[in-house]
Amino acid sequence: MESPLDRPQYAIGIIGAGFAGIIAAMHLQRSGRQDFIIFERADAIGGTWRDNTYPGCACDVPSYVYSIADAPNPDWSRMYSPQAEILAYMQGVVQNHGLEAHIRYDADIVHAEFVEAGGYWKLTDRQGRLTTVKAVVAALGPLNRPKMPAIAGIDQFQGAAFHTSQWDHHCDLRGKRVAVIGTGASVAQVVPAIAPMVGQLTVFQRTAAWISARNDHAVSAGQRLRFKRFPGLQRLLRHAIYEVMEFRGRLFIGNQFLHSFVTRQSLKKLAREVHDPETRSKLTPTYKLGCKRILASDDYLPSFNRENVQLVTDAITEILPTGLRTADGQLHVADVIIYGTGFETSEIHTDAQIIGLGGRELFTQWAKSGMEAHRSTTFSGYPNLTYVLGPNTGLGHSSVLHIMESQMPYILQYLDVLDALGPDGFLDVKPEAQATYNAELQARFKGTVWISGCKSWYMNTQGKIVVLYPRLTRAFRKAMARLDIGSYDQRSGTLQ
Ligand code: NAP
Repeated sequence: MESPLDRPQYAIGIIGAGFAGIIAAMHLQRSGRQDFIIFERADAIGGTWRDNTYPGCACDVPSYVYSIADAPNPDWSRMYSPQAEILAYMQGVVQNHGLEAHIRYDADIVHAEFVEAGGYWKLTDRQGRLTTVKAVVAALGPLNRPKMPAIAGIDQFQGAAFHTSQWDHHCDLRGKRVAVIGTGASVAQVVPAIAPMVGQLTVFQRTAAWISARNDHAVSAGQRLRFKRFPGLQRLLRHAIYEVMEFRGRLFIGNQFLHSFVTRQSLKKLAREVHDPETRSKLTPTYKLGCKRILASDDYLPSFNRENVQLVTDAITEILPTGLRTADGQLHVADVIIYGTGFETSEIHTDAQIIGLGGRELFTQWAKSGMEAHRSTTFSGYPNLTYVLGPNTGLGHSSVLHIMESQMPYILQYLDVLDALGPDGFLDVKPEAQATYNAELQARFKGTVWISGCKSWYMNTQGKIVVLYPRLTRAFRKAMARLDIGSYDQRSGTLQ
């Protein structure tokens, strides 16, 4: 007897209700599609902007660009808005676009399996609930699994210890001896926010970061009113900021003049902002600017002028019940340890499975050969599956929301073709098309700063850049405007 689960219950299942999932849903709606469900692993929307609540957490791309094109917000309070405001903006978008009714909370999809005979996906969440959908739009987000360092004795520590993305708001830092491990984008925001309240702050740096000016400022009430009255003004500002960032993006991909100019600016800033020559020397990066993410901050470096802030560059060899031991044998006593050690990239996924044709599993495949997709969006052997912000979509210079929005025309055309193929139809990118795309994409990294010798989270363990897009966002938008239907195998027919 046929069960209701032998056919798709929904046309589309979006996995994730962060920015990628919300943008995907808005575009589906705009194209006239209402038959979709959004699975959200947590009990609230927001993705990274829900999870990261550390002190100082804010966007490091100007808010006028780091917002959805179809949902401009004239009320941004600052040029770089804080986390709570971004989350409230996302909640407003979900409400205003009637997306709430589509979301199923506490639905962490841990098993997705393509049913070849019927051309649909069976999705199982952590609680064992099974849902069937014709097509999947994965919007899992690249940075949501905290990475803890492999340091001996890590479990021995007797004080409070937590990752920046799992901030313990019950832990009162006032007057405490706090150790912070890592010096990436999160820590650059945490340090200035907590330095004035803690007793002693010890920052453990493995690699110095390049830092450029942030120029954050409040947006006046008058300016906000003007944006409300004349939305064209805000569009103009968005466009202008986008163009400046796009121009600056050239420093990553071979513009030597721009690269030396920004390098000089950054070194001058360091000289201006850090008084002690020894600390300044420790904070001077030894690799090419841009190879790792450039941080935008005007208050991180000056924090090291404070009496109560110390920079340690000796490697941590062990964590003891009372503190951290470094390679020079010194014990740094601490009451609290904050891990600003970043995230596991999507490539390393241990507790979820995506099973495609012939039983192949996507994350196992990625662990072996590196994550890759066709046009960052589809995967050969995994029909009727698209991925927003998939492999090679990361940026060093602009807003990832622009990338997500660029993927949507491609995904909508893909879904149109799938509809036309009939109830058990499927659409699968040809392996040779995916291979050719990736060979060309990888060749594009030649001459860029990203392969100039540093070790970054943009690369996998084999040294292949799997996170970044090697060109400007304009090129990506152009490439994603039309579905290259010839790159796909199609099957059509009717379910028997
Ligand atoms: P991250 O950039 O990956 O930084 C992790 C830091 O931890 C690095 O300094 C790393 O050093 C250090 N580290 C890792 N293991 C260590 C160990 N065993 N001992 C000592 N140090 C260790 O992580 P993140 O700062 O959380 O930022 C991740 C990404 O999130 C950013 O690049 C950005 O894309 C995003 N982000 C965005 C915003 C925003 O405002 N939009 C804010 C925060 C984060 P090495 O450099 O030597 O590896």
